[in-house]
Amino acid sequence: MKPIIIVGTGLAGYTVAREFRKLDKTTPLFILTADDGGFYSKPMLSNAFAQGKQAAQLTSFTAAQMAGQLGATIITGTRVVAIDSASKTVEAGAGKFSYDRLVLAVGARAVRPALGGDAADDVLSVNHVDDYANFRRAIGAPGSRIAIMGAGLIGCEFADDLAGSHRITLIDPNPLPLASLAAPALSRGLLEALEKRGVEFRLGASVGRVDRDASAYAVTLTDGRQLQADAVLSAVGLRPDLRLAQAAGLQTGRGIAVDAYGMTSAPDIYALGDCAEYASESGGSVMPYIAPLMSAARAIARTLAGTPTAIELKPAPIIVKTPSYPLALVPVPAPTRQGAWQEATVEGRTVCRYHDADGVMTAFGVAPQEAGIRQGLMAELGSRIMQVA
Ligand SMILES: Cc1cc2nc3c(=O)[nH]c(=O)nc-3n(C[C@H](O)[C@H](O)[C@H](O)COP(=O)(O)OP(=O)(O)OC[C@H]3O[C@@H](n4cnc5c(N)ncnc54)[C@H](O)[C@@H]3O)c2cc1C
Repeated sequence: MKPIIIVGTGLAGYTVAREFRKLDKTTPLFILTADDGGFYSKPMLSNAFAQGKQAAQLTSFTAAQMAGQLGATIITGTRVVAIDSASKTVEAGAGKFSYDRLVLAVGARAVRPALGGDAADDVLSVNHVDDYANFRRAIGAPGSRIAIMGAGLIGCEFADDLAGSHRITLIDPNPLPLASLAAPALSRGLLEALEKRGVEFRLGASVGRVDRDASAYAVTLTDGRQLQADAVLSAVGLRPDLRLAQAAGLQTGRGIAVDAYGMTSAPDIYALGDCAEYASESGGSVMPYIAPLMSAARAIARTLAGTPTAIELKPAPIIVKTPSYPLALVPVPAPTRQGAWQEATVEGRTVCRYHDADGVMTAFGVAPQEAGIRQGLMAELGSRIMQVA
C-alpha cells in the first residue's frame, strides 16, 4: 500500500498526522522534513525569553518520539525538491518516494527586507526554534541593545518579552504599533505600555541599512536617523513558501491555492498551515495562525480517512501576547476599509468596534483582554468567516 506523505513537521504537518491517526491506525504514514522534526509550539518563541526558556526546553518531543506516537516513518533533514503529480512521487535529498495522497505543510519564510550596509546579512529573524536558539546567542547579556524591525504582532511580542532585560528599540514605518491590525486607540495603549517598560520607538521610517561599527551595529533609518544596536531582529512578516508548489505547477496566489477541502489544483495533493491560501467568499486568504491550521488539519484528516469534509474556518480572535497590555482582536477585513472605529470603556477596558460602510460590525479589539468580554464581542461579530489579509 502506498503511504500518505506529509511534507513538514511544524504544527500543521504534525496536527494533520495526529488527527489522521485518530481515524486510521493502519495506512502507512511518511513524514519528510527539512528540519530535525522536533515538536515545539511556535507561538512560544515570542514569549519564552521572559520565562527563562532555552530553545532546547521548547522542544517537547523528538522526531523519534513523534514517530512512535504517530505510528509514522519520519525522515528528518531532507528537503523535498520536486513533486511529480502524474507519477505520484516526490523527490527529496533522502530519495524518491511514491505517495497515494500528499499533504504539503511547508510553512512560510521570513521576509528579508532589502537593506543596504555591510551587516545586512547579520539581521536575524525567528520563525523556527533553531532561529530562536541563534537569536538567544546573538542578543547577549542583559542590558544589551536590540533593534527590532517591525512593530506588528511578532515585533511587539518580542519587544515586551525582552524589555525586562534588554534595551529595545522598535522601528516601524507606520505612526503606531500594530497599525494594520488594531484600532488606533489600542495601538496607542500598547505604545504607552511598552514605553513604560523602557521600549523606545522610532516610528514613521524603516531601516535602510545596517553596518558594522566599533561597538556592534549602526542602524540607519530611511529618514536619516541612526541608532546603535548589539543585535538586529527583523519581524517584518512571513511569506508562504511557494517554491515546491510552483516548481510542481500547482496553482498559487499569495499561498498554495486550496479548495474547500484543502485540496490543491492537483488531485490527491493537499496543503494547509502557513503555506496555504484558503478559498473564501472574497477570494483567497492566507491565515498564518493556529486556529485555522487546526480546523484545516481536522477536515483534511477526515477526507484522507475516507469522509470528504469541508474545512470550517470559524472566526477566531488573535490574542496578542504582550503581557504589559494584553490585547485580543479581530482585524478589519481587507476589502472593506471604508468604515470607522468606535471606542468605549467597559469595566475599565478599552473596547473598539469597527463598522463597515453599511454599518455592519466586522472587527473589534479589546484591552486588557478577558475571556468573557472577548466571547461577547465574538458573538456580536456573528458567524462571519475569518479573513486575515
Ligand atoms: C514568533 C511567532 C509567534 C507566533 N504566535 C502565534 C500566536 O500566538 N497565535 C497564533 O495563532 N499563531 C502564532 N504564530 C503563527 C503560528 O505559529 C503559525 O501559523 C504555525 O506555527 C505555522 O505552522 P506550519 O506547520 O504551517 O509551518 P512551519 O512551522 O513553518 O513548518 C513548516 C515545516 O515544513 C518543513 N519544510 C519546509 N519546506 C520543506 C521542504 N521542501 N521539504 C521538507 N520539509 C520542508 C520545515 O522544516 C518545517 O518543519 C506565531 C508565529 C511566530 C513566528
